[in-house]
Amino acid sequence: MNKSRLLYVPFDQLNENYGILKNSSPATDLIVMVESLRMTTGRNWHPEKLYFLISSARHFAQHLENIGFQVEYIKSKTTLTGIKEVQAKYPNLTVHATESSSYRGNRILQDHNVQLVPNDFFLTSRFDFNLWASNQKSFIMENFYRAQRIRLDVLIENGKPTGGNWNFDKDNRLPPPKNYDWPAYLEHQLDEIDLEVSIELSHTPSKIWATTRTGAVRQLTNFLTNHFADFGPLEDAMTTQNWSLHHSLLSPYLNNGILHPSEVVEAALDVYRKGNIPIASCEGFIRQIIGWREYVNGMYWYLGEDYRDSNNLNSRRQLLPLFMDSSKTSMNCVKQTVFDIEQRAWVHHIPRLMILSNLALLTGINPQVFLDWMREVFIDAADWVMVPNVIGMGLHADGGQMMTKPYIAGGSYISRMSDYCKNCHFDPKKRTGDDACPFTTLYWDFLDRHLDTFKSNHRMFQQNNGLKKLKDLPEVRKRALKVLKNLDAGTI
Ligand SMILES: Cc1cc2nc3c(=O)[nH]c(=O)nc-3n(C[C@H](O)[C@H](O)[C@H](O)COP(=O)(O)OP(=O)(O)OC[C@H]3O[C@@H](n4cnc5c(N)ncnc54)[C@H](O)[C@@H]3O)c2cc1C
Ligand code: SF4
Repeated sequence: MNKSRLLYVPFDQLNENYGILKNSSPATDLIVMVESLRMTTGRNWHPEKLYFLISSARHFAQHLENIGFQVEYIKSKTTLTGIKEVQAKYPNLTVHATESSSYRGNRILQDHNVQLVPNDFFLTSRFDFNLWASNQKSFIMENFYRAQRIRLDVLIENGKPTGGNWNFDKDNRLPPPKNYDWPAYLEHQLDEIDLEVSIELSHTPSKIWATTRTGAVRQLTNFLTNHFADFGPLEDAMTTQNWSLHHSLLSPYLNNGILHPSEVVEAALDVYRKGNIPIASCEGFIRQIIGWREYVNGMYWYLGEDYRDSNNLNSRRQLLPLFMDSSKTSMNCVKQTVFDIEQRAWVHHIPRLMILSNLALLTGINPQVFLDWMREVFIDAADWVMVPNVIGMGLHADGGQMMTKPYIAGGSYISRMSDYCKNCHFDPKKRTGDDACPFTTLYWDFLDRHLDTFKSNHRMFQQNNGLKKLKDLPEVRKRALKVLKNLDAGTI
C-alpha cells in the first residue's frame, strides 16, 4: 500500500502506544525523527543529558524499524528544516504529529500546518486541568491532588482515602539514617548504539541511565523491589553516603515518553496490593506522579507562555561560579550537590529545591539565568517541567501564583535533613562571623531585604517575627554583603 502520512516523532514522545503513533500503521505511515543541530550544539548541555536523549531516540527509531515502520532519522539544522527535507523527498504525504510538550514546539508545528492530535503523555488533559484551575481561588497542589485521587480512583476506598489520610508527610520527613545498608545501584550496560553516540559526543556515559524501554522497565522493577517500601520516610533526606537514596530515578523515562505515568502508577499499586509496602511510602510516591507531575504540567499550560519571564522580586544577579564548577566553593552542601550533577546530571528534589534554588533565591540570581542553567544540566529537564518548578516553586519569581510563600531556609534545615554540615568549614547555627553558614546569614538578610513584600503574608508571620527579634541585624547585613561578594568571586 502507498504511504499517505508523514508522522513526526520528537525525542520526548518515544512510545508507539500514545500520541500520533497510537493509531499508526507501517503500511500507510512513514516516520520522521530529527536530530537537530540546534538541539545538540545550541546550548551548553550536560553531555550525559545529550547522550541520553540522542541514544534513546536512535534506539526508538531502530525499534520502530523492527516492528515494520520505514523511519527517516535525519540530522538537520533545526527540527523544521529536517521535516522539510523529508517532505521534499515525499511531497505527497501530509505531516502529522502529537501536540508538543512546549509552547515553542507547538508554534513551530502549527506554523508549518502540521496536523496535531492531543498530547496524551500525561494523565490529565490540558482541557481538564484548565477546568480545575479556573475554579480555584489559589492553585494549591494538595487540592488538585485530592481531586486527582478521586477522578483516577487511586488509593480510594468507599469514597475515602486509603489508610484514613490524604497525606502522610508527617511520617515522611526523616533525616538520613546512620549505618544504613543501601541497596546496590543498578547499572545499564552500553550497547552498539550507546557506544556510537558516546564516541560522537566524546563522552563516557555513567551507565546510570537506560536508553531503551527494556532498561527503563528494569529501572522501574528495581525501584519497586528495592526502594519503594522505604521511599516515603527518607524522601527528603540528603546524605553523602548515597546519591540517590530511595528515589526512583524514573523522571528521564517519564519525560521522554519511554514510560507512561499510567503504567508506573499501575505497577506501584500492584506491588502495594500484595502487601509489605507501607501506605506512607505508597501514597508518597503516588502523590509525586499523579499529583506534582501533573500539576506542574497543568500549570505550565494554564499560566501562559509569558509566565517564564516573571521576576517579581526583581532579582538581577548573574549565575554564581559555584553552579558551574563545584571546586569554586567550600560550602559542603553546595559542593556535593553540584559535584553530583557534574557526575550524573541528577540530584533529587530536595537538593534542587532547598540547596540550589534556595541559594539562587537568597542571593537574588536572575530567575531566567538560573532557569537556563537548570535546563542545561539536568537529565530530566524540559521546558514544561522546569519553568513552573524554577519560576514558581524554586525562586518565587511569580509573586506567589503557585506557592503561597517562598521556599527559603537557613543552615539549620540543611543540617537537620543531611549529613553535609558535619564536614563543613561553616557552622549552620551562626549568622555572623567568618565561619557563619552562608545560608543562615543570607536567610535573615533575605527576610530583611524583602520585608515590604512579605510583611502582610500571614504564612510568613513566624519568620518575620523572628527577624524583628534579631539583635544583631546590622552585623548580619554586613556579613551578608561580604558573603555575596565572595560568592560572586567564587571564593567562599
Ligand atoms: C527546582 C526544581 C526543578 C525541578 N526540575 C525538574 C525537571 O526538570 N524535570 C523533572 O522531571 N522534575 C523536576 N523536578 C522535580 C523532581 O525534583 C524530579 O522529578 C525528581 O527529582 C526526579 O527524580 P526521581 O525520578 O527519582 O523522582 P522521585 O522522587 O522518585 O519521584 C517520582 C516522580 O515524580 C515526579 N515528580 C515529583 N515531583 C515533581 C515535580 N515537582 N515536577 C515534576 N515531576 C515531579 C517525577 O516524574 C519523578 O520521576 C524539579 C524540582 C525542583 C524543586
Ligand atoms: S554549614 Fe551551611 S554551607 Fe556548610 S554544609 Fe551546612 S548548610 Fe551547607
